[in-house]
Amino acid sequence: MNYKNIFIDLDDTLWDFHANAKSSLHEIYDNRNLGQFFDSFEQYFSIYAKKNVELWEQYGKGTISKEALSLERFLHPLVQVGINNSELAKQIGIEYLDMLPSRTALVPHAKELLDYLYPKYPLTIVSNGFVEVQYKKLHSCRIEKYFAHVVLSEAAGALKPDKQIFQYALKLNNAIAAETIMIGDSYEADIVGAQNAAIDQIYFNPQSTPDSTNNATYQIKSLEEVLNIL
Ligand SMILES: [Mg+2]
Repeated sequence: MNYKNIFIDLDDTLWDFHANAKSSLHEIYDNRNLGQFFDSFEQYFSIYAKKNVELWEQYGKGTISKEALSLERFLHPLVQVGINNSELAKQIGIEYLDMLPSRTALVPHAKELLDYLYPKYPLTIVSNGFVEVQYKKLHSCRIEKYFAHVVLSEAAGALKPDKQIFQYALKLNNAIAAETIMIGDSYEADIVGAQNAAIDQIYFNPQSTPDSTNNATYQIKSLEEVLNIL
């Protein structure tokens, strides 16, 4: 297939969300001397990370509000060690959201991939993230210059996997679905989403998470492998 346009997800496809979240929390942990309550940062982070995943699932199902998610994920680790301090949890949450988008860790080979694709194709970010946060990330790690367009759900009026956000991105590029391919790490949002819009897909699945329903056009474990496809 001769592709003429590349769509690409940002979080955990290019920008290393996990590493950046961890380093932000580590800095807050040190600044706020949370070591007085926990055995180690690793202990704190593992309690946080487990709860965070659960809360995002509940938020996705609509059983908790965004405010509850924002507070509870930072309050829970404190409560686990006997510190029921919602004011502290709230402050940690504010600092975290402020710090996170200025972090610069990229997924391995992301820069190399962008350098390779940039001269060959117009590249478009397609992301469900918030406008302010996503532009700050692109700017912090100096990759904004690679993109012809940045399509975020707020502007498109729809979230991945809704085909509307992909159709919005096609229109911006004056492109057609048959000549476009989407690269992303979320099977549900990126792969199923692109399929909904009849766009081919490269599923970036570094952990090789088995998924019986996986019928992505291509599947890769490392971003380097894109160089063999495009
Ligand atoms: Mg992602």
